[in-house]
Order: sequence, then structure tokens, then C-alpha cells
Amino acid sequence: MERVDSAALKAKVVERVAARRTDLDALSLAIHAKPELSFEERFASKSLADYVATSGAAVTRGAGGLETAFVSESGKGGPLVAILAEYDALPGVGHGCGHNLMGTASVAAYLAVREVLDGLPGRVRLIGTPAEERGNGKAILIKAGLFKDVDAAMMFHAGDRDEIDPLMLAMVNLDVEFRGKAAHAAAEPHAGVNALDALLLAMGSVSALRQVVRTDSRIHGIITDGGLAPNIIPERSAARFMVRSPDNAYLNELKTRVLACFQGAATATGCELKASWSETCERVTTNAPLAEAFSRNAKSLGRTLDPRRQGDTHGSTDMGNVMSVVPGIHPFLAICDDGVPGHSHAFTQAAATPRALETMRLAAAALAQTAIDVLADPSLVRRAREAFDGGR
Ligand SMILES: [Zn+2]
Repeated sequence: MERVDSAALKAKVVERVAARRTDLDALSLAIHAKPELSFEERFASKSLADYVATSGAAVTRGAGGLETAFVSESGKGGPLVAILAEYDALPGVGHGCGHNLMGTASVAAYLAVREVLDGLPGRVRLIGTPAEERGNGKAILIKAGLFKDVDAAMMFHAGDRDEIDPLMLAMVNLDVEFRGKAAHAAAEPHAGVNALDALLLAMGSVSALRQVVRTDSRIHGIITDGGLAPNIIPERSAARFMVRSPDNAYLNELKTRVLACFQGAATATGCELKASWSETCERVTTNAPLAEAFSRNAKSLGRTLDPRRQGDTHGSTDMGNVMSVVPGIHPFLAICDDGVPGHSHAFTQAAATPRALETMRLAAAALAQTAIDVLADPSLVRRAREAFDGGR
């Protein structure tokens, strides 16, 4: 193939994203208006997959054994760029993580690259990735082989500032259940074993533990079952916790100490404890050469991404699992003023504003341009691979 004129292709993808503006905004707002939880993103998945299909690309639905995942691939041979679309929402706050913007941006980026693929070697693969908020959807798709042969994986995340290299922690979920014994809470309380008390003791222990935990790590949870009626000694209680740290070894230490809080409470109350840990959501490891390419492209479109702000974290993402198997990036782009917290009602509102939609389209163009960089520049693929190996 002749030398690729990247600049011309990059200008063209900006035009292609702009040409779809009405459709993209409508798609994103429709998904925002109909938030769906992890693994249940039927409307969002279908809306995005249908749009890809009507744009002329073949789509495989139910990819990797997940009903709400989908894949579309264009091009021939290598290199292979994966662009990831998230679209799940949160209980209670809807699209408080802005995934309506991110899923749509990735679809737009894919379609734009597809339209200039004639001038490029290699392939681009759009992967609709369900269940980021809960369930580690991407880990399931990794096991299903969807990331085999991928040279670069990319997406953007909506945020309250522009940040190229976010700190996102390794994380595990803990599901616990205490089993006690029901009895009349006034007539025969002595005949009961109180499972709610066990849980409250455990939560108190976890709170005490927090004081002596590294400030870069997090432990937090909710009660999902606190009993049935005040006049029955609760025979069952249940909770969901998350434990996070940037350091895998320390995360393992924390797991042991958090579990001990629950074990101790079981002993104290005479309850039985059932505890199960999820698989690990891996820490985000931004690939420097790919990040530099994305930053350069975003800058050419008018957005300057800052390095990580000391002491800040953005929670966790299953994109970390993808970045543990292939080189990848997960930059944040602001859709609102600095200081609006993610997973809040304010962020949900921000995810449907003209400012958010403008950021979404800019992200789409920057992702498309970065994909062009990967396809057009063999040295970028090599440097991304070297940085990835070096980061292991
Ligand atoms: Zn998110």
C-alpha cells in the first residue's frame, strides 16, 4: 500500500461525525431517557446496533454469549483497533456515568473510520460492551476471545475534567449473607439469632478498619436485606460491598481484613456467614504511546487533556481488564464543570446537555483519528506493544 495520507483521512472523519450529528444526538438522548441496568441494556444495545446496521455494516448481536453485547468489524488484515461502546446505567440515578454519550461516541467513531478504510490497511472492530457498572462485562468478552489479536483498544469516558491518564483502582465485589433464626422480637427474643445485628456489627468493624487503611484504597457497601418486620428477629441479612485499591497486593490484604469483619460478627452473634468475592476488576493502565496520539488529536480539535491530578481517583472500570490484555486508553473528557461528582443526579442531568453532546462528538472524532493513527503508522503499533510489555 502507498504511504497513507493521515491528515486527509483525519479531516474526513471529523466531517463524517459532523454529518451524523442529528442522528448521534438523538441516539444518545434516547438512551439517556431510558436507562437500563447492567446486562439488561436491551434498548440501548438494539438502538446502537440497529444504527450501525442501517449504516451498512454487518452486526453480530449477542456477541460473546452476552445478550446485550454486539460486534461489528470492517477492513482486512492487521493491525486491529477495537473501539468499545458502553451503554449501561445505574440504579436510582440513571445515566449518572454518561454511558449514553460513550456508547454513541464509539459507534460514531467506528462508522467514521469505516468510511475512510479504503485508504488504510487493517481492521476496526466495534464492540458493544454491556455491564460496566456491575458484572465485569468486558472480562466475560475477553474470555470469549473478542480481544484476541487486538493491537489497540480505546474508548472515552465522560467526566468533569479533561484527563488523559486517570487513576482507576483494582476492585472486587463482596456479597455477604448472614443466617440467624427468626423469633417474636418481644415475646421470645431469646429464641432468636439476629442476622441484622450481625450485619450492623460487621459494618461497624469495617468503619473502624477504614481509619487504618491506606488513603488510596476504598471500602464501601450497602445493606440489601435488613429483615422483614420489626416484630420478627431478622433471620436473614445481606449486603454488597466493594473493596478497591491501586495496589493488587494490598487489595488482597484488604480482602482478608474485610472478610474478618464479617467473620467476627458471625462469631459474636452466632449467625452463619456466606461470603463470595467477584473476579477482580483490574486497575487501569493507560498505554502511553496511544494516549499521546489521542491527546494530540483531541488538541487539534480544541481540547487539551491534562495529566492525572494528584490524589484523585475515578473509581474502577472493567476497561482495566481489557488494558491488562491489550494496549488501551480510557481518557476522560469533561461534559460539565469541574467538581460535579459522577454517579450523582447532577451528572445525570449533565449527560443530556448540548455541552455533553458536543463533547461526545469531539470524542468520536478524536477516537476515529487515533484509530487512523494506529492503522496508518506501524511504528505506533510497535511502540504501544513495547510500552504494554514494559508495563507488565
Ligand atoms: Zn462509567
